[in-house]
Amino acid sequence: MFGFSIQKLLILAAIIGAVWWGFKWIARLDQLRKAQDRSKADKVGGGTPRVEEMVECPGCKTYQVPKPDKSCSNCGRLL
Ligand SMILES: [Zn+2]
Repeated sequence: MFGFSIQKLLILAAIIGAVWWGFKWIARLDQLRKAQDRSKADKVGGGTPRVEEMVECPGCKTYQVPKPDKSCSNCGRLL
């Protein structure tokens, strides 16, 4: 009755394997959920703000973001 047969050992191994696989699967789902939460938080706000390089106008010495035509919005000189 208490003998260890190959069938019993195989079933035990299968149960242990299933439990181990289940834990791995749960851990992976949890990791995915956390990654999604993080990327959502980045989109809502808090992420790095958009940065634009500013250049100094040689004419009026003001710093501004270059426009497509590269002219100063203050004095009209080329930046
Ligand atoms: Zn200027």
